[in-house]
Amino acid sequence: MERTFAMIKPDGVRRGLTGKIIQRLEDKGFKIVALKKMRISFDLAEEHYGEHKEKPFFKPLVEFITSGPVVAMVLEGPGVIAELRKMMGATNPADALPGTIRGDFATTIDENVIHGSANEADAEREIALFFRPEEFV
Ligand code: ATP
Ligand code: MG
Repeated sequence: MERTFAMIKPDGVRRGLTGKIIQRLEDKGFKIVALKKMRISFDLAEEHYGEHKEKPFFKPLVEFITSGPVVAMVLEGPGVIAELRKMMGATNPADALPGTIRGDFATTIDENVIHGSANEADAEREIALFFRPEEFV
């Protein structure tokens, strides 16, 4: 069954949105097969966002994602990679439709509440980066 990596970012955790966001993912019918609250190390942040290394927003992005605990999870379900991206809404919350997580809970691109893998290769890479095999239940 298809799997993806999802993460409630430090702003979402700080603002007490963890329960609401997980509720939406469960309501949709996705199964949570791994879940943990954790702090992201500087090294893990740089690795996770490696594709953006040359972008001007890379340093602030790494600083933000390491600024407080996140809730990391692996979701399972049919078409879950694309479906999660749909449920998240556009990267910039200003463009995200009402009804999406970013559309309903965020206002600025630098603090947009949730991460979801962009495609199959990213999902595989990110799941392996954040979870060990014994953490799956
Ligand atoms: P994420 O990878 O966090 O799920 P995404 O896949 O929707 O988000 P990416 O293009 O991978 O978007 O960008 C990663 C993160 O970098 C975004 O979530 C956003 O916080 C930040 N970001 C992207 N583009 C910009 C930008 N132009 N200015 C500032 N921050 C940006
Ligand atoms: Mg991305």
